[in-house]
Amino acid sequence: MARIVMKFGGTSVADLDRIHNVARHVKREVDAGHEVAVVVSAMSGKTNELVGWVQGMPKATGANSPFYDAREYDTIVASGEQVTSGLLAIALQSMGINARSWQGWQIPIKTDNAHGAARILDINGEEIIRRMGEGQVAVVAGFQGLGPDNRVATLGRGGSDTSAVAIAAAVKADRCDIYTDVDGVYTTDPRIEPKARRLKQIAFEEMLEMASLGAKVLQVRSVELAMVHKVRTFVRSSFEDPDAPGMGDLLNPPGTLICDEDEIVEQEVVTGIAYAKDEAQISLRRVADRPGVSAAIFGPLAEAHINVDMIVQNTSEDGSKTDMTFTVPSGDMEKSLKVLDAARDKIGFDVIQHETGLVKVSVIGIGMRSHAGVAASAFHALAEKGINIKAITTSEIKISILIDGPYAELAVRTLHSVYGLDKK
Ligand code: ADP
Ligand code: ASP
Ligand code: MG
Repeated sequence: MARIVMKFGGTSVADLDRIHNVARHVKREVDAGHEVAVVVSAMSGKTNELVGWVQGMPKATGANSPFYDAREYDTIVASGEQVTSGLLAIALQSMGINARSWQGWQIPIKTDNAHGAARILDINGEEIIRRMGEGQVAVVAGFQGLGPDNRVATLGRGGSDTSAVAIAAAVKADRCDIYTDVDGVYTTDPRIEPKARRLKQIAFEEMLEMASLGAKVLQVRSVELAMVHKVRTFVRSSFEDPDAPGMGDLLNPPGTLICDEDEIVEQEVVTGIAYAKDEAQISLRRVADRPGVSAAIFGPLAEAHINVDMIVQNTSEDGSKTDMTFTVPSGDMEKSLKVLDAARDKIGFDVIQHETGLVKVSVIGIGMRSHAGVAASAFHALAEKGINIKAITTSEIKISILIDGPYAELAVRTLHSVYGLDKK
């Protein structure tokens, strides 16, 4: 007997038929004698609809924030998961399974106060463990918890993955299965590159990079939690027949296992390619090259909670002036320009230039630590396709390249093939 957390994403619970199909997956594990907690997302498209409603509302008069009240945003967008948790509990009951729904506040899943992007601080798993011991399935609404202000808080888009891994850690589950609309983690987004291959295993560090660099198959925070708490996490498909052979395999279920790198049997140099759309680039031209200038630029941006990513600095021939180029998410572009303009006297630049619609393509693999020449192959391959590189950053296990938006798919496919990742 094992204790399993099963998470089902939006497309897996998109309508009543699919919710019944999910119930069959749960029944399979219950019938095998396992203790089960389930985490559900909202029906696909629901969260977007709810966010759209919030954005369609007028802003409060006199509010000092340019945005709506983030606590009310959470009240509204968390409702999608409440619906699916109840529906799945009913579907399970109709199959003769003892099940009940749980909202984040009922458990409680305690979070910090960052409404809209809250982090889980603590989960009291006791009552769920007790009830699982009595054979009851807990159906937990993902994406939500309870803030220190005693109000509903949501975990950021894609946050149900994080709910699932956090619950798995809290109830000391043997496994956390993330069911989605693909049958595992691929070498790149299979929607962009049909030749992408499914990985049998991927190391935590690599999955963390893939997720941070744009592969939305798992929310970044869920991978961090799985890594820290050593949660055995699988990504697998809810669209396969729940009763097909092997689906209930306890040790080797179909899908991709996220694990420690020592567990990986065949480590390649490059494991995957990720891409992130909607990047914007800002260049400050002819900035005085003196100590403190970077702090003068990036300090105010950080204070405004703007996430600066790639940074490139060039120095003029005589060393007196520098050009500072960096990227921010496109959505933060206007805000960044305002912040920089306000700090103009302190920074002392001549011109500010900006460009949106860029894409960051990244090559990821822990094998890069011990192999030279990985970056050079990427640059060659992109040059051959006539793709211009606007900025580059590297770390031990990844190379990120900034390019013009329209070349995104070509670049992903080119890099995928150059590192031998294409399906044979
Ligand atoms: P869910 O609603 O189940 O949470 P998501 O849409 O958040 O599902 O994530 C699954 C999607 O992630 C897939 O449909 C796929 O297009 C995308 N994806 C991006 N990169 C990858 C990758 N490397 N491997 C698998 N899926 C990926
Ligand atoms: N429903 C939420 C979203 O769409 C959370 C999730 O699906 O993981 O972002
Ligand atoms: Mg998701």
